[in-house]
Amino acid sequence: MSPPPIALLLAGLAAWSGPPADDPAPLSIRGVYGGVPRAILDRGETLADYGINAVWIGSGGLRSEDIALLRSQGARVFAEFNTMHVASFVEEHPDALPIGPDGRPSPPPDGWQGICPSHPGYRTFRMAEFRRVLAAFELDGIWLDYHHAHASWERDVPLLPDTCFCDRCLNRFREQTGIDLPDGPTAEVSALLLGPHRERWVQWRCDIFTDWVRQFRRIRDETRPDALLGTFHCPWTDSDFEGALRTKLAIDLKAQAPLFDVISPMPYHARFGHADDPDWISRQLSWLGEHLGVDGSGGGRPLVWPIVQLSDWGEPVPVDQVVPVLERGSRAPATGVVVFAWGSLAQDWPKVERLGTFYREHVGKPDLGPASP
Ligand SMILES: [Zn+2]
Repeated sequence: MSPPPIALLLAGLAAWSGPPADDPAPLSIRGVYGGVPRAILDRGETLADYGINAVWIGSGGLRSEDIALLRSQGARVFAEFNTMHVASFVEEHPDALPIGPDGRPSPPPDGWQGICPSHPGYRTFRMAEFRRVLAAFELDGIWLDYHHAHASWERDVPLLPDTCFCDRCLNRFREQTGIDLPDGPTAEVSALLLGPHRERWVQWRCDIFTDWVRQFRRIRDETRPDALLGTFHCPWTDSDFEGALRTKLAIDLKAQAPLFDVISPMPYHARFGHADDPDWISRQLSWLGEHLGVDGSGGGRPLVWPIVQLSDWGEPVPVDQVVPVLERGSRAPATGVVVFAWGSLAQDWPKVERLGTFYREHVGKPDLGPASP
């Protein structure tokens, strides 16, 4: 590939000028998730050759030299942060296992192990790690991942057990709501919580997860205030799967949204049973914009930067779908787009070429928002 025109290089450099947390202008983000796109550099090319100006890296794999390398390529660097899915924690802390309605540990659906959200030791553990990551690395932002209740939802038919009915959660619910639950067996209490007290129970659970976000935001403000706070978010509407976003995953989107700078819904069309219907992506985005009252214009927060599926997972994503998927993932209210995921994409270079063509065409285009000054 020939070197990019100087205008593209300058656009890439202009896009990297630190995160404009106070700048109301929407960002123009053309991102990849999954670490340094080293295969591009190994070919003697640059990220700008592919229009890439943002990279997400798992917080456990961050290295200062990689951040410096990406910055030298004109890219912003964002970390992904695992909130509620550090499964190894429950091995040494069995009291953090999510408890089912029968009073016994809820088996991890699909092997997906969640954590009791009221476990104080787990919360302290994650908050300390969040602070450490933000303090240690010159990040442009950090994205929460897996911030939801014990469930396997990243698939076509989600597995959504009811949790957590541990004694700690039940006692806190009693204290904080004033609802007088009987001291009987857990099965008896859980029947009341899933029955006559269901709405109070669902909201109480949602409020815990929202409060986690509030604390993450405080730590961001104290530690690296210019870094953006984002979240990789379930792409369901509030009525998909009978309202499971709130009732099962414990996500109160309207309460959480003002705490974030950026929401990155994950409309993985092929994985989630819509392999032949890329329009599903833009339908979900359109709902999100209406629900949150954001349209991608004027720089209002939260910004919406969807992460779309280009790699084969569950179902293959044919190379001819790359552009249609990116195009739908870029529609309003989106002002940026990210692709999932670099590791497998790098094994499928025709898709990378299509990605690069799309991204280059969208450098500085107003539908993705202007690059920051
Ligand atoms: Zn619990």
